[in-house]
Amino acid sequence: MGVIANEGYRYYLESLPAYTQQNGEMIPTAEVDDIQELPPVIKVEQSKRFQSIHATFGTLSGLAALFRILFARYSDQEIMSKSLFSFNHPKGACEVCRGIGKAEYIDINKLVGDTNKTLREGAITTTLPNGYIVYSQVTVEELNKVCKAHGFHVDMPWKTLSAQQKEVVLNGSDRLKVFYGKHGLESRLRWQGIKAKPREEGYYKGMLPIMQDILRRDRNPNILKFASSKVCPSCKGGRIKAEHLNYEWKGSNFQAWTARPLCDLYDALNQLDLNAGEKLLVNKMRIPLLDFIRLGMGHYQLSTPSMAISSGDGQRIKLINQVTSNLQGILYVFDEPSIGLSSNYQRHLLHILDRVIKRGNTVIVVEHDLEFIQAADWIVELGPEAGIHGGEVVFNGAIQDFLKAKDFKSPTLSALKTVKGQKISKPQIQTQSGLASHFQLQANQLVVMSRKTPQFLARMRRYCEMKHLNLITVTDQPIGKTPRSNPATYTGLADKIRDVLAKTPKRKS
Ligand SMILES: [Zn+2]
Repeated sequence: MGVIANEGYRYYLESLPAYTQQNGEMIPTAEVDDIQELPPVIKVEQSKRFQSIHATFGTLSGLAALFRILFARYSDQEIMSKSLFSFNHPKGACEVCRGIGKAEYIDINKLVGDTNKTLREGAITTTLPNGYIVYSQVTVEELNKVCKAHGFHVDMPWKTLSAQQKEVVLNGSDRLKVFYGKHGLESRLRWQGIKAKPREEGYYKGMLPIMQDILRRDRNPNILKFASSKVCPSCKGGRIKAEHLNYEWKGSNFQAWTARPLCDLYDALNQLDLNAGEKLLVNKMRIPLLDFIRLGMGHYQLSTPSMAISSGDGQRIKLINQVTSNLQGILYVFDEPSIGLSSNYQRHLLHILDRVIKRGNTVIVVEHDLEFIQAADWIVELGPEAGIHGGEVVFNGAIQDFLKAKDFKSPTLSALKTVKGQKISKPQIQTQSGLASHFQLQANQLVVMSRKTPQFLARMRRYCEMKHLNLITVTDQPIGKTPRSNPATYTGLADKIRDVLAKTPKRKS
């Protein structure tokens, strides 16, 4: 399937005028003699690549764009530009948070470590062994002069300092001039005595102004270690300029519309009195909205950040976009589109794929789900075993013939024969809020939730707080990208192996 998808995509790219030989190297040519009658291919795979700080459910699904047009044309005041409602456009983005909706700030709790320690002992975690305090531009000795001018000193535990005294350390003082200087990390580490440094004289600026300035200019990983985020005080999380949030359409502003869960949004849109132009735009939203809800995405909001969307749902958003695009003659390749879906939602997924096919397209899916496999017209079974013992085409034909086949070994086929005749009961569909209120965690039990919604998460957090339990989250995010890491280093096994090796008699040879 990878061959079909990549070849189709490569043929398509090569047909574009801007396509050059250079780009061609990005998609390797398949190691096959010949591929015939390959239509243009659109590949929708599982990946987290759709996740970015600039993407939300609304931007990924294209629904936010329709809302922007609605607001630009039909809000209570006439507005010329729909970009006023785009957080990715300079005209629209809130200037305080630059369209992120959250404001980052230097978190004092991350900067101050052990509050029992004194400043000299390193209460501020950026204090180096030589006494220089990174981000303060001064040494502990220079800082002590400032502290003394305010009636305290660097040998008092941080927790005993008054609010005003902490304020001096964090935000600076203009009582007396001290020696300060910015130094590269390397020189700071080599720095032994005062004489070695070229230094300037001036007022102590304080750590927070210096750190906030760096955070604003350059969000580097070193400074981000000390940053936390809160809802942007200007746009209140709306991501667009506060003054643009004054415009209303049908009694609500842009943020309020995009904050509704899709279920509510769909209902609200259906109850509105609309003029012809509004109707046209709203109708464009209705069908995809209903598809999203029927695929179990009714709890998302248009404002849901892409980071909070699962890779399965991300793939299905792309699928709905394709369904709405009305293209014909395309070969769509999907990688396990049913992943994470319960069977009632799966039926709707099959219905959607059917719509794509009826319009004159072909759909290939890689699937393990038996119900899904049974719904296919054509089966390509690879085997005979998994992994390196497989890879051969053991069956290629219509599903009816596959189900009747007897002359080969196929775990898929035997599984299909086992479930045949067993009626799968249709699960009850309840509203998300209804489910969340019935949901009760039990101690010492395995509880499985098929959907991660904010309501469930809130309930789980409350339960853990109440019972004083540690909540440990394990996600499918990659654990790291550094080439030095491997499963042995992540599990701590590498350390144990090193210990054992260090104890063996041969280690000195
Ligand atoms: Zn903002």
